Amino acid sequence: MWGTFAALILMPTPEFSMLSFNANIPVPADADARRAVKPVVCYPVESLVAPDMAILERARATMEKVDEVIVPPREGNTFEVPKGHFFRIVSVEGPQVGDLNLWNANDLSERFFSGKTRALHATHVTTGNRLWSNLPSLRPMATISHDTLGWYGFDEFGGGVHDVIGTRCDPYTNRLLSGGDYHHCCHSNLCRALSHHKGFDIKAAEPHVHDVLNVFMCTGFTRDTQQYFMKASPVRPGDFLEMFAEIDLLGGLSACPGGDCSTSHSSDVAKCYPLLVEIYRPDKTLLADWPFPERNGYQLQD
Ligand SMILES: [Zn+2]
Repeated sequence: MWGTFAALILMPTPEFSMLSFNANIPVPADADARRAVKPVVCYPVESLVAPDMAILERARATMEKVDEVIVPPREGNTFEVPKGHFFRIVSVEGPQVGDLNLWNANDLSERFFSGKTRALHATHVTTGNRLWSNLPSLRPMATISHDTLGWYGFDEFGGGVHDVIGTRCDPYTNRLLSGGDYHHCCHSNLCRALSHHKGFDIKAAEPHVHDVLNVFMCTGFTRDTQQYFMKASPVRPGDFLEMFAEIDLLGGLSACPGGDCSTSHSSDVAKCYPLLVEIYRPDKTLLADWPFPERNGYQLQD
């Protein structure tokens, strides 16, 4: 009985839409005026020192590939990038989305902070944007130095590429929504990859896995219901997203079981391809004036 009742409650019926719940809420006389108030940007970033992209361009011109790592389809892998090196996530063979985690290679408690990166930059990131670390460090971990999908912008549906609005596909949400278990969600792949890299038990690795940068993923919010949507990634073999490591980095990357994320994820249905990670070393003398970031100086008070 309760099972049936619970199933009814959990069914995504139209009664769950915000508008139907609020149909009987009285609309105030000045509703239009209240809605017409102009928004202000939450975090004006004019005071942030912008990265000097000209220095990075000169460094890029000298860089040589020193390592590469393949991330097999529906699997994860890790890679290390020394401070002052570049790394590329490259599409090979076919359109494929990647879920990226970043850690301070010397301190796993400092890791990528998707939410604040979104708040400081935008829902989707591209060249010149930075990937910020969590509190209390809050400093740039990486600066995006090249994006071959930088031409995409935002499409007619409001979709953009490389999002910091999603989380990562995970087996818990999958069980919640489908009732089934799937073991190659990006969350699982990242846990497994970190566990192998560090020699941790997978349960010990799991708390270090965090919300991702969805590399190459094309997403947005539906105009009518503001729901998170995905659509086929515009990425093609040869495209890459390149970043400059501001600190010593450990990266984790999952080749999402959603493939190009045009239809589904958290299953073996979608066509999936590997991703390639390339590590590049530039001429370090060109970075002599680069202001490598310290951890945030704020001290929490009792
Ligand atoms: Zn995924």
